Amino acid sequence: MAIPIYQDEQSQLKYQIIIGLETHVQVLSKTKAFCACENSYGGIPNSRTCPICLALPGAMPEVNQRLFEAAALCGLTFGSTITMENTFARKSYTYPDLPKGYQITQINAICKGGSIKIKHQGEVKEIALVQLHMEEDVGKNLQIADEQTDYYDYNRAGTPLLEIVSTPTMHSPEEASTYLMTLREIVRFLGISDGEMESGSLRCDANVNLKIETDKGWIATPISEVKNMNSFRALRRAIEFEASRQLALWQTDGITLNDPKAIKTTRRWDDASGTTIFMRNKGVLDDYRFNQEPDIPTVLLNEAWLEQLRQKLEPTPMEYREELIQTFGLTEEDAYTITSSKELLHYYLEAAKGAISPKKVANRLLSELLAVIKEKNISISQSPIKPNQLRELCDLVEQATITGKQSKSVFTQMLATGEDAKDLVQKLDLKQLDDPNTIAQWVQEVLAEFPKAVEDYHQGTDHALKFMLGQLMKKSAGKAKAETARELFLQALGPIKNPRR
Ligand SMILES: [Zn+2]
Repeated sequence: MAIPIYQDEQSQLKYQIIIGLETHVQVLSKTKAFCACENSYGGIPNSRTCPICLALPGAMPEVNQRLFEAAALCGLTFGSTITMENTFARKSYTYPDLPKGYQITQINAICKGGSIKIKHQGEVKEIALVQLHMEEDVGKNLQIADEQTDYYDYNRAGTPLLEIVSTPTMHSPEEASTYLMTLREIVRFLGISDGEMESGSLRCDANVNLKIETDKGWIATPISEVKNMNSFRALRRAIEFEASRQLALWQTDGITLNDPKAIKTTRRWDDASGTTIFMRNKGVLDDYRFNQEPDIPTVLLNEAWLEQLRQKLEPTPMEYREELIQTFGLTEEDAYTITSSKELLHYYLEAAKGAISPKKVANRLLSELLAVIKEKNISISQSPIKPNQLRELCDLVEQATITGKQSKSVFTQMLATGEDAKDLVQKLDLKQLDDPNTIAQWVQEVLAEFPKAVEDYHQGTDHALKFMLGQLMKKSAGKAKAETARELFLQALGPIKNPRR
């Protein structure tokens, strides 16, 4: 995929955007990363704290195994190299929402390399990853309007986090947002995180700079790191804003990435004004005075444990989508809806297994069953109609045992009773009648009873046959198979004798 080149209307300058994303994913687990406090969102401030996450002297951290599981599941999915010997490090910085004065993180990441496959503008592209490491979240600073005091809530302090660092190989706001959406659906599918951006379960920082075409070739602008984007739209807008800001800045100061005067800055996205706001100059790594966390021993992973995790892995939602489109002939839109939840996907896969028309199964699931599920406010796994029952109903229509119209009433009955479609068809006496002898008998009766219609038919009146079919349907109480009846009528009537000209 070619790197898009943008052109600034005013200056006519041509440029490319370079984007790398650092994504923080809060891990779903019962407890925090290094203590037994409950790991959940919200609640009364400081109600979920203990000496460990408050960093009281002498408190000793203990690692949550779930954090390792989450990291390894991601790494195996992304095809990363897994570090078997894991240590933690202290990243020192002073900030009031960080009670220890340092954050427990990793220098030697548990997962290195790998990639995330995204589908952007109809093409599959692999975004290479630098690494994925484990760390803990910080607390929250609460500012209450009209009060001079700052308050601190440490409920979030110590929440298990994964930080996933991409290479700077994305080149448009849309591509970056597709990457983040793909990453979110993967962690949701793996059951690692709820991926809610609004509550901060999924947060992302964007490293953005430009390559600008000049007379002397392409130059790069200094990198800025943009924080605080809590929606996909905010991410796209922030990148767009940074591109125009950096382009304008370079035209005034001419500072490029390799210039000694170049400084990496940290900026904050402000959704209300639609701009990024300067926060601080980014220090060099050494400022954090990384050193090994002495209170947590080295954790050695073993191959058997990794193999157990590997067994749990499934295709990614994107891979499933391709399968649904190619194997079952679904539309891209339907495939997206079905893969939007793991539960729904597995319901569908079960229902479509061996179905005469998997596409029809998808139609009925998405158009009829989901509406009911929504209305009843239940999950698909609580559906009164089980996957095999849905398949059977669709197959009955495909085999012409019942008509599409009849299937609607069977569907309603299935919802109410949970009974199988076949049993209901028997019970409701809906089965289509396809016995040629019986139908031929009715044909003869209709021909005898309606000589005028027969005459009309032979004069080429269009509606005559339809009328006779209708009369036959009445005799059969709607159960005669229409195609058979039509064929038998045509046989009995013979060729049209005196067509009107
Ligand atoms: Zn705690």
